[in-house]
Amino acid sequence: MATKKKQVARELLFGDLWEFDPAPETAPAGIADRYGLFIGGEFVAPKSKKWFDSISPRDDAKLSEIALAGQADVDAAYAAAAKAFPTWSKLPGAERGKYLYRLARLLQDRAREFAVAETFDGGKPIREARDFDVPMAAAHFFYHAGWADKLEYAAPGRDLRALGVVGQVIPWNFPLLMLAWKLAPALALGNTVVLKPAETTSITALKFAELIRDAGLPPGVVNIVTGAGETGAAVVRHKTAAKIAFTGSTSVGKWIQRELAGTGKRLTLELGGKGANIIFEDAAIDQAVEGIINGIFFNQGHVCCAGSRLLVQESIEAEVLRKLKLRMKSLRTGDPLDKNTDIGAINSKQQWERITELVDVGASEGAEIHQPACELPKKGFYFPPTLLSGVTQSHRVVKEEIFGPVLSILTFRTPDEAVEKANNTAFGLSAGVWTDKGSKYLAVASQLKAGVVWGNSFNKFDPTSPFGGFKESGFGREGGRQGLLEYGELD
Ligand code: NAD
Repeated sequence: MATKKKQVARELLFGDLWEFDPAPETAPAGIADRYGLFIGGEFVAPKSKKWFDSISPRDDAKLSEIALAGQADVDAAYAAAAKAFPTWSKLPGAERGKYLYRLARLLQDRAREFAVAETFDGGKPIREARDFDVPMAAAHFFYHAGWADKLEYAAPGRDLRALGVVGQVIPWNFPLLMLAWKLAPALALGNTVVLKPAETTSITALKFAELIRDAGLPPGVVNIVTGAGETGAAVVRHKTAAKIAFTGSTSVGKWIQRELAGTGKRLTLELGGKGANIIFEDAAIDQAVEGIINGIFFNQGHVCCAGSRLLVQESIEAEVLRKLKLRMKSLRTGDPLDKNTDIGAINSKQQWERITELVDVGASEGAEIHQPACELPKKGFYFPPTLLSGVTQSHRVVKEEIFGPVLSILTFRTPDEAVEKANNTAFGLSAGVWTDKGSKYLAVASQLKAGVVWGNSFNKFDPTSPFGGFKESGFGREGGRQGLLEYGELD
């Protein structure tokens, strides 16, 4: 009898075997040479008379000149917002809802342009800006437009009113989306706003100001002041602000909390994270590997809820590591405007230096570094996808938020050990649990100190779902009914 030869499945090494033709996005980004401050419904020159350059991390080239708001400019923005408040807050909810729907639709109309501008400005792959950031930003306006005329159902039996003028400060990792998370609930409830985008990514916020103008929003309802930390501090400290909503680093968040103590201002803080992605031996390994990849390499790892600590059950460590390394070979790192790109540019030189420094620290502390061979563009700021194995919970790379495409791997033997290690962090924003057993998921998830715990998935977002942290990841929620209530006073 003839013996059958055993067939071994060939591995698909897409990155090495197939040459991709470049597929650059060609839609125009519509970025102006210069942007003033958006105060009282129009773009105005800064009283400070100062401007700063906004560069693209894609190639380090100048994109635009942005106004630097000083104290007098922040005062003017708050004055405009305070003037607009009485009328805006008294509008029937259905009327405010119309403006929010209009903003959502205007954003959809110019979705491609906004996606390209976001990629130029922040460095994220066009695929993500196009398929995630912009549609999700529009979804937040649609969702909160729906709430505007149904506020009596947000807190049944209670009276819900706007707080007043709200100061909002946002980071650079999801510039347009963070703006949407902040503006949409505040406006739905009848607040007026002074918003400060991050200094490296102000452009889509300023383009959004054009939509605000086009939507005919009453002047002063939304004011956008640009600048760096000093401008942010002026927004936070302003006596007119009834509430401050901040998303950014834990260190700045702590400073803001100290600064506002005793002032009576409301405060929500969405800060850093060091999410655990826990893989049990009974999980569907191939899906889990995709979840690990998405969990850490989405948006170059510039994600507060990134799954930057992989906790894998010891019995499957070798298999997971092998599959992960193979999958990483097929990731394409490079020009974010190329539609094939998976990992784009690091947002700024400063962030690139921080990632590099922390990975070097990891190496000096004995971590084993795995990076697939890939050719990075000569100009701009790029960092290859990186795995760090041979690390323990006391390594800095395991404890600190790196905010880049860098994953640390730890192992565990029992569910209790997984929970203990996952919770052994100063942060408490996110976690993922991969298992075939629903009961195991529920048992583990209920013990994790994290604002969101994904089951057999990671980095899934929805405007209807509240998002926020515990411990040094901050407090307060954004999204859903809970996020809406953060912008109202209950009587
Ligand atoms: P950052 O704290 O340096 O800056 C955030 C914003 O605060 C920027 O607009 C900045 O100009 C401003 N700012 C800086 N100093 C300030 C001050 N003294 N007073 C007021 N404003 C000030 O953070 P970053 O580096 O831009 O963003 C990355 C951080 O944001 C990460 O830690 C990340 O985890 C966190 N983040 C958290 C969430 C969340 O929802 N929890 C979402 C996105 C990002």
